[in-house]
Amino acid sequence: MKALLVDARSPLSTPPEPLFRDRMTTPLADPVDGLAEIVRQVRGERSLQRVVLSIPGLVDQANGVVIRSTNIPSLDGCHLGERLGGLLGVPVDVVNDGHAAAVAEATWGAGAGSDDSFVLALGTGIAGAHVVDGTVVPGAHGSAGELGHITVEPDGALCSCGRRGCLETIIGAPALRTAWNSAGGEGGPRSLLAAFGAGEARAQGIVFHAASALAEALLTLCALVDPGRIVVGGGLAQAPHALVTLAEGLVGERATFHRVPPIVPATLGGWAGANGCVLLGLQAG
Ligand SMILES: [Zn+2]
Repeated sequence: MKALLVDARSPLSTPPEPLFRDRMTTPLADPVDGLAEIVRQVRGERSLQRVVLSIPGLVDQANGVVIRSTNIPSLDGCHLGERLGGLLGVPVDVVNDGHAAAVAEATWGAGAGSDDSFVLALGTGIAGAHVVDGTVVPGAHGSAGELGHITVEPDGALCSCGRRGCLETIIGAPALRTAWNSAGGEGGPRSLLAAFGAGEARAQGIVFHAASALAEALLTLCALVDPGRIVVGGGLAQAPHALVTLAEGLVGERATFHRVPPIVPATLGGWAGANGCVLLGLQAG
């Protein structure tokens, strides 16, 4: 877990200088009690106005409920906002971690200067969020932006979602690892991209195939959403940038009527989600 504490009077224009910033481990077995204890440690003697918590998984933000958590299954169905708020005596907001990171990138990171960004995270899965005027456009059911499940090869490999040929089955980190290992390569996507950069022949086809699939998905994105900027982050984008650069070139070549926006790397790195929580907390007052 990452924890950031900022002065509630900080301006919204730039990321505030944190009063506290560190990685934390929960000292207690119960996750809610553990979170409360972490907040108490971070707070120290200061008076707290608000806690914003970002969780990987499906979240009912309006009610502070964790519907399904990928990494902490014991939180599934938990009324986290209410329970943690009761323990700490302050309002607690619960948000999706991808949305928090996207808001931060769009406002303080690579999207700064554009009021319309689509922020994409490449990793084990592929998450995306359309951020307009500093707010995620969530869709009618809160599930917009699932770029990883756009079909790019209708007869392709089976995806975790139950369909075939989703973008994730080609450029998700596990898919890249499998393709690389099948070609005799060792290690995961980072080693694949390093080998690509070094000109290794067996890496070329895999990376080109992945970049081509990403380019198709980005063209679909441009056709549907017409974003002002596309920001690409996540673990894979932080690795050698070849995949994104290659995809950007292919998007340019293949575009017809599409208005292709700048495609830029994310700049906030692993602290984007925590920064997004800060931003949402400051916006909430
Ligand atoms: Zn899928």
